[in-house]
Amino acid sequence: MKAIDVHVHPSTREYLEKTQGPYLKATEAYFRTRIPLRTEEEMAQEFGEMGLKAVLLGWDAETATGLPPLSNDWIAYMVRKYPDVFLGFAGVDPWKGKQAVKEVERAKKDLGLIGVKFQQNAQAFYPNEHQFYPLWERCQELGMVTLFHVGTTGFGAGAPGGMGVRLKYSRPIYIDDVAADFPELRIICAHAGWPWLEETLAVALHKPNVYIDLSGWSPRYFPQTLVQHVNSLLQDKALFGSDYPFITPQRWLKDFEGMDLKPEVREKVLFANASKLLGIKI
Ligand SMILES: [Zn+2]
Repeated sequence: MKAIDVHVHPSTREYLEKTQGPYLKATEAYFRTRIPLRTEEEMAQEFGEMGLKAVLLGWDAETATGLPPLSNDWIAYMVRKYPDVFLGFAGVDPWKGKQAVKEVERAKKDLGLIGVKFQQNAQAFYPNEHQFYPLWERCQELGMVTLFHVGTTGFGAGAPGGMGVRLKYSRPIYIDDVAADFPELRIICAHAGWPWLEETLAVALHKPNVYIDLSGWSPRYFPQTLVQHVNSLLQDKALFGSDYPFITPQRWLKDFEGMDLKPEVREKVLFANASKLLGIKI
């Protein structure tokens, strides 16, 4: 099989225990699953055996959560150790200001990572606030692909007060501002943004630099409007992502088979779009 999974969290102790801390329980309940801790080797083997390339995502929500980041050096180490399997996106905390900008530079120049992942609910920030613009500017200059969470989240879900996590930050319309002000910045909106799905579709239709990944829910539950847009107007901008380990690529791909898409669109979603966007050949 030839496919690129653009949304993969490490299923190792480094990510699940250290960076998620007390939030992991809520996320597991939200996805109705218990996540097993895996070793680096087990994870690499799992994706390798499926013939998948996986974009490993970093994480740094230290300012808002007080929890330590997943080091970008670890992401880079995984990519170096398993170059046939993994690609890496850095995790950067926008609240760290100049240090965040420096970390993006380091991630690109020293660590060889190809993008940056943000999670506005966990990191508690609006992407269109101008204090963060130097960060987007540097990502744009360096050609780093950005991945923003949009829509609801399992982070804090179901716990009292959602553990203080606010959904408002991940409205897709704030990404529209960033896409307008940084037209060369390539932006992936993760998860298609429910309950603001139409808002995500509108932003992706209007801004050539905005893509969507279909991770975080099974294609079996995709609303018809999403299926129709992926099959037509957004066929060059929709990307396969699982949200591993919360949704496994096995399950996602199996349910994807039942999605009503033209064969050439299927190929674009699984491989060609991400290959072009990330500059990856298999
Ligand atoms: Zn995710």
